[in-house]
Parts: sequence; C-alpha cells; structure tokens
Amino acid sequence: MGNPLSDIYHKTLAAIPDTVGGLLSGRSLTEASVEKLAVFNPDNGDQVTMIAQSSAADVDEMVHAAKASFDSGIWSGAAMSERQAVLTQAAKLIRENAEELAALDSVTTGLLYHRALKPHVQAAAGWFDYFADALDGIESERLSTLPDTDTVISREPAGVAALFTPWNIPLMGASLKLSAALAMGNSCVIKPSEQSPLGTIKLVQLLYKAGLPEGVLHLANGSGAITGDALASHADVDRVSFTGGENAGRIIAEKAASRFAKATMELGGKSANIIFADADYDRALDGAVIGAFANSGQACLAGSRILIERKIADRFIADFVGRTQSIRIGRPFDAQAEMGPQSSKAQMERVLSFAQLARRDGAEILTGGERHDGFPGGCYVKPTAVLAPSNDISICQEEIFGPFAAILVFDDEEQAISIANDTRFGLAGYVWTGDDQKAQRVAARMRTGYALINTPMLRDRNAPFGGFGHSGIDREGGRWSLDFYSEPKTIMTHHGHAPITSLGKSD
Ligand code: NAD
Repeated sequence: MGNPLSDIYHKTLAAIPDTVGGLLSGRSLTEASVEKLAVFNPDNGDQVTMIAQSSAADVDEMVHAAKASFDSGIWSGAAMSERQAVLTQAAKLIRENAEELAALDSVTTGLLYHRALKPHVQAAAGWFDYFADALDGIESERLSTLPDTDTVISREPAGVAALFTPWNIPLMGASLKLSAALAMGNSCVIKPSEQSPLGTIKLVQLLYKAGLPEGVLHLANGSGAITGDALASHADVDRVSFTGGENAGRIIAEKAASRFAKATMELGGKSANIIFADADYDRALDGAVIGAFANSGQACLAGSRILIERKIADRFIADFVGRTQSIRIGRPFDAQAEMGPQSSKAQMERVLSFAQLARRDGAEILTGGERHDGFPGGCYVKPTAVLAPSNDISICQEEIFGPFAAILVFDDEEQAISIANDTRFGLAGYVWTGDDQKAQRVAARMRTGYALINTPMLRDRNAPFGGFGHSGIDREGGRWSLDFYSEPKTIMTHHGHAPITSLGKSD
C-alpha cells in the first residue's frame, strides 16, 4: 500500500475472524444461525468477513436476557457511582483501542482511517464521558405544592432499549445511544448495520471489559429485514432508538407505536446551505465544500443543496467546481486522502443513478457524475456538482447520501428561505452572511431541527439533535437523551389528617 498506515490496515484485516455472529452478552453466536451475509470492503470489493445472521429466535433470547437483567436490578438498580465508573472506564478503553476501532469501521465503510480515528473514535469515547458526568446533574425533584403533601419526581430507567444504527457513523452512532441508555440504567440490544458491524462488536466487548454486568447488553447481527425486524417487533422492547433512512424508520416507528413504545427517529436530510453575497467568501466556500463532501457525502447533516445569492453565483460556482475537482480522492488508509469510496456498491450505484436523473431533469452536471476508475473493484465516485434548474427535481428533493452537491441560485432572502423549506426533510440548515440579524432571521425561519450560522457541521453534546418532518421524531443528545431513556415517576406522600371522602360507610 506504500504508506505508514499500511501496517494497521493489514493487521486489522488479518485479525478479523471468517465469521462474526451476534453477541448474547459477550458470547458470540456464530453457531446459532444458518444464514450468512457477506461484509465487503468498499475500497476494493473484497469480502472482509461473513455475518452469521441473528435469527428471530436469537433476537428473542437476547431481549429476554436483557429483560431478565433489567428486572434483576443488577444494572437498573445499581448505584449511580457504579454506572459512572463503567462508563468512564469504557471511554478509557475506547481511547486505548482507538486504532483498532477506527480500522474496523474503515475497512467496512470506506471511512477515511484518519477521520475514523479523529473525530469518530474520539467522539465515541467523549459520549461515554459526557453521560457519566451528566448523571451528577440528575436529582429527584421535590414539590410541595399541595397542602401536607410531599411530591417527589424521579427518573426511572425505561427498560429494554433497542438501538438501531446506520453504516455511515457506526461507532459514533452506537456510542451516543449506548452511553445514554446505559447511563440511565437500561438494558440494551444494539443492532448495527449489516454492512459494518465490526467496530460495534468490539465496542460491546469493551463495555463488558469495563465492568458492565452480564446480561445487560447484547448485539443483534444481521439484515434489517430479518434481524432488525425481529428486534423492532419484539413485545418486550420499551424504547426504540433508530438512526437510519426514512423507509426503515417508517416501518420501525409504526411497530413501536403499535405497542406504545417510545421511539426516536433520526432520519435523513436534504439540508440547504444558504450563502449570501455578504458572507465571508472564503469561509463560505470552504464550508460548502466540506458540507457537501465530508464522509464522501454520506452524512445526515450534509449541506447537499447549496443555495447561492445571484450576485456572487458565477464566481462562487466556478470556485466551488474548481475545489471539487481538486479534492484528493484516495484509499481509506491513505493519510493524504481527502475523500474515499462510497460505503458499498449499492450506494455507488445509487449516486450514479442520480446523475442520470439530473440529466433527465435538465440539470447541468458541472463536474463528476461518474465512477472514479482509479481504484479497481472500489466503490469510488467522482465528487459531483450539479446546477439545478429548480428545486423540485429529484436531485433537490431526495437524499442521495453521496458526494453530490445540487446548486441553486436565489435572488433574495425570502426566496432563499422558501427554497430551503421546500422539502419534506428538516434536519439541518446552514446560513452564511456577515449580517447577524439576517443570519438569526433566516436560521429561525428554516424548518429544521438544527440551524448553523457561518459554520459547517458542528455538534454540541448538550443540544438536542434531530429533525422536523421526514427527518425524524423526537431528539437525542444532552438532557433529551436522558429524558428519552427514562420514565418520569411521581411519588406523593400525604402527612395530613384532612378528611377523606368516605363512601360505603353506614353511619
Ligand atoms: P437504513 O435505514 O438502511 O438502516 C439503518 C439500520 O436499520 C440498520 O441497522 C439496518 O439494518 C436497520 N434496518 C433497515 N431496515 C430495517 C427494518 N425493516 N426493520 C428493522 N431494522 C431495519 O440506513 P443506512 O442506509 O444504514 O444509513 C443511511 C441513512 O441513515 C441515511 O438516510 C442517513 O441520513 C441516516 N442517518 C441519519 C442520522 C441522523 O442523526 N439523523 C445520522 C446518520 C445517518
């Protein structure tokens, strides 16, 4: 491979077993299943391993074990200090195993190794520290609003949490959910994407090493249609936390609703990146490029619709195209690479199909729109910029989830907001301007859960994260996660002697 990361790459590949199963606690269920699924390396199309798919019966066993551990109180009733110690130790172990974790995500998703290492693995560890600390702020609330009555409101663990994660942020997604769910005392079954389960398997093993009691956490390994469906349908699941696409989200949300299980849905986006003529030009250009192409465009927060004020449009578009063409495409373990492959052949084909749709709909492909042929067997697409004639064509309405920027030109603030909001999604919105008041106005009027001013993707752990409309339901992050993974409980104690209305007394 000819670069210093080559050793990590080969060492990681060599250590991956031929078959990986689900985990019942820490025990691998490789024998339990007959169905096998291949996991591929999108860098070259090679098979990395096989998944011994967790069957519905396997999933049932996992949920029952999770419920039994929950009911036993071994974790749900553990002292806060004990839970904090496990989470803090998990964060430490994640950092100590950062290279392996990053490499496992990288060989299955094509995520650039240096990005997987930082920010992804660092962010994963950070979530465990964050929720360990957050427990300090959790206290029962006392009310004395009613006469002679003490009212105490506490948060109880919710029960068994089913956690579904996508392939684009395997470790970060798993860590956000697991750290909060475990902090609040829940037992969990995690279901990573069948494309990229390896980093999450390692994470579960590290959590047990950190001191998590047996039975509290399990990993269901397999496809959405079989393994995921069994988990989403299970009657003993009390919380469903799903991050993924709109279609799977709809199916899973319906199942959760039918048995009154609370669910968060962190779904897709088609976020507008609005650039006004009075913006800091260079920063806005940098922000537009990284916003469209970070993680090979496979980011829920991607600023995939770039809206440019007409006054600067010609210059900005020319510069954007120039920068797009100069992005260094490289293999995931190439330290110089700025963009790697798509995560799978299917994903690559999806992106390319949108180039065809763009042509059909009269959009102008300014650059890209085709496979990169420099990587035999790899799922590489050239970063693509398309000038869209209007916002209603499919490249402006569908989440492509690839390195595909749809560019639109606007004349004034009102039109920019109207285009930005003309979508069924509502995850994020970006605005770039030197006018603070305009920035606040536009950010407030964008129908999105997240609005960022003069910056590309940023995340504050304390802030709620999630979207409006088809981008999802509810929020995770900060106290929103703590609320989601717990049940509020009210205990009222009366100390007075006020008469009680008595029924059925004869005198
Ligand atoms: P996906 O919906 O295909 O899969 C997500 C998870 O759900 C996987 O584990 C999958 O196996 C499982 N699954 C799929 N169908 C299922 C079913 N019928 N029943 C039960 N489980 C099922 O998503 P993906 O392709 O892995 O990820 C890409 C999507 O995730 C994009 O739409 C992206 O925007 C979204 N995403 C959202 C956020 C966010 O925070 N809003 C973050 C990252 C990714």
